[in-house]
Amino acid sequence: MKTIGHWINGEHVSSVTANTSTVFNPATGAEQAQLQVATAEQVNDVVAAAKAAFTVWGNSSLSQRAKILFAFREIMNHRVNELATAITDEHGKVLSDAAGEVQRGLEVVEYACGLPTLLKGEYSDQVSGGVDLFSYRQPLGVVAGITPFNFPAMVPMWMFPVAIATGNTFILKPSERDPSASLLMAEMWKEAGLPNGVFNVIQGDASVVNALLDHPDIKAISFVGSTPIARYIHGRATANGKRVQALGGAKNHSIILPDADIDFTAKHLVAAAFGSAGERCMAISAAVTVGAVADPLMARVAELAQEVKVGSGRDTSSEMGPVITVDSKKRIESLVASGEAQGARLVLDGRGYKVAGFEEGFFVGPTLIDGVTTDMDVYQQEIFGPVLSTVRTDSVDEAIALINANPYGNGTAIFTSSGEAARRFHREVQVGMIGINVPIPVPMAYYSFGGWKDSLFGDHHIHGPEGVRFYTRGKVVTSRWPEFTEASGASFSFPTAK
Ligand code: NAD
Repeated sequence: MKTIGHWINGEHVSSVTANTSTVFNPATGAEQAQLQVATAEQVNDVVAAAKAAFTVWGNSSLSQRAKILFAFREIMNHRVNELATAITDEHGKVLSDAAGEVQRGLEVVEYACGLPTLLKGEYSDQVSGGVDLFSYRQPLGVVAGITPFNFPAMVPMWMFPVAIATGNTFILKPSERDPSASLLMAEMWKEAGLPNGVFNVIQGDASVVNALLDHPDIKAISFVGSTPIARYIHGRATANGKRVQALGGAKNHSIILPDADIDFTAKHLVAAAFGSAGERCMAISAAVTVGAVADPLMARVAELAQEVKVGSGRDTSSEMGPVITVDSKKRIESLVASGEAQGARLVLDGRGYKVAGFEEGFFVGPTLIDGVTTDMDVYQQEIFGPVLSTVRTDSVDEAIALINANPYGNGTAIFTSSGEAARRFHREVQVGMIGINVPIPVPMAYYSFGGWKDSLFGDHHIHGPEGVRFYTRGKVVTSRWPEFTEASGASFSFPTAK
C-alpha cells in the first residue's frame, strides 16, 4: 500500500515509523494509503530547516518573492485537475467542487502576488525640526498552519501565500484524512523556484500538533478546524507566547422572509446544504423560516433535495459525494435519529443511503428535518453532513434573536426582497460573514475571512488585509540626521515636537 510522508527542506522525506494513520477512499470505503506520523525528531528537523531558510527568505527582495508567487500561480493553474483528483480521491467531494476550492485558494495566491503594494509602509516628513518618522512591517519568522480535512487545498492557501509573501517560512500540518494535496503543492513551490525550507509539510496527529504548539522557534500558529480543538490550540499556543488565529466550527443559519422568491431560495438552500455533502464550514445547516413562507418553501426544497445526484466524486454526473469517514457517517445518522426521537419531522431520510457499485462507500443521502427546536441535539451540534434542519419562527426579531443566541457565528444569510430587512439583519446579527440572497458568503481573497464567537479564537481573521497584519509586526522609526555642530534639543525632559 502507498505510504505518505513529509516534505522537509525541499524534499520528500519518509521514515520508518510504527505510528501510522490510514487514509481511506470515502467513495469505495477502501484503505488507500498509510500516512506516516512524524516523530519528535522530524518535527525538530522541519523547524530547524524553516528557521535556517528564514535567514535568507526574510531578507529576499519583494520582487524576487513576487516572481516566485506568480510562477507558483501559473504552475497550479496548469495542474488544477491533478490536484482536484487527489482531493476527490481522499476527501470524496465531486471533481468540480474540488477544482472550485483550488480556484478559491488561487485567488489568495493572486492577492499575495501584490505583496510589494501590501507591504508599503508610511512616512511622515518633518514631524519635528529635522526629524522624520516612518513605519514598516517585518515578517515573524517560522510560522505553522494546522488545517482540517474539508478543504485540503483551499484552507492551507488561506494561510501560506500570505505568510510566504510577507517573508515568513511556513510549516503545514494538514489533516491526516486527506494529506496528498499538501505534498503536490510542495512540489509546485519547488518548481516555482521557492528556496528549500520556506514551505514544508509535516504529517501527523495531535502529538505532532502539540510539538508545534510548544516549539520555541515557531512564532505564530494559524489553525482551522473544529471549535473544541480551536479553543485548545489558542489556549496552549498563546500560553507559549505565540501569535494565534484559530478558526473553529459553525452552525450557519439562513433566514427566509415571506417576501423571498421561493424557487430561487429553495435552489440556493439545497445547493448550500448538500454541496460537498454539507462538509463546508459555511454550509447552511439551519433554515429559519419566518411566518407563512415555511410550507411552500419546504415543499419545493424537498422536491429539489430528492433530485440531488449522489455518487462517487469521480463520476462527473454526481453533485454530492460521500462523507469523510465511516465514523462521520455513523455520527451524522445518529444525530438524525435523535432529531426524530426528540420530536422533529423527518421529511427526507438519507440514512443507510447506498450507491450502486459503491456499497461500502461512506454515503449519507440528503436529509431534511422540519419542526426542529433549539433544544434538540440536531440543532445544538454542528452536524457537518448533508442535513438541513428547518426552524419555524413568527417574526424577523425572533429569527435574529435565535441566531444571536447560538454560540457559533461563522456565516449566515437572509433571503428577502426587502432592502430594509436586509440592512437591519446585517447590522444586528452577531456573525462574521453575512450573505444577502447569497447563501455561502465566503469573502473574496482581498477581504478577510472569519467568524465571531465560538467560530474564531484570536484577534485576526484569515487572509486579506488581516492576514498581512497577522504574519507581520510593525516597526516605527524616528530619524534625525543632524549636523553634529551642536547638541540642540538634547533634554532630560520627555521629547516633544519642536
Ligand atoms: P478537527 O478539529 O478534527 O481537525 C483539524 C486539525 O486539528 C487537523 O489537522 C487535526 O489533525 C488536528 N487535531 C485534531 N484533534 C486534535 C487534538 N486533539 N489536538 C491537536 N490537534 C488536533 O477538524 P476536522 O474534522 O478536520 O474539520 C472539520 C471542522 O473544521 C468542522 O468543525 C468545521 O466547521 C471546521 N472548519 C472551520 C472553518 C472556518 O473557517 N471556521 C473552515 C473549515 C473547517
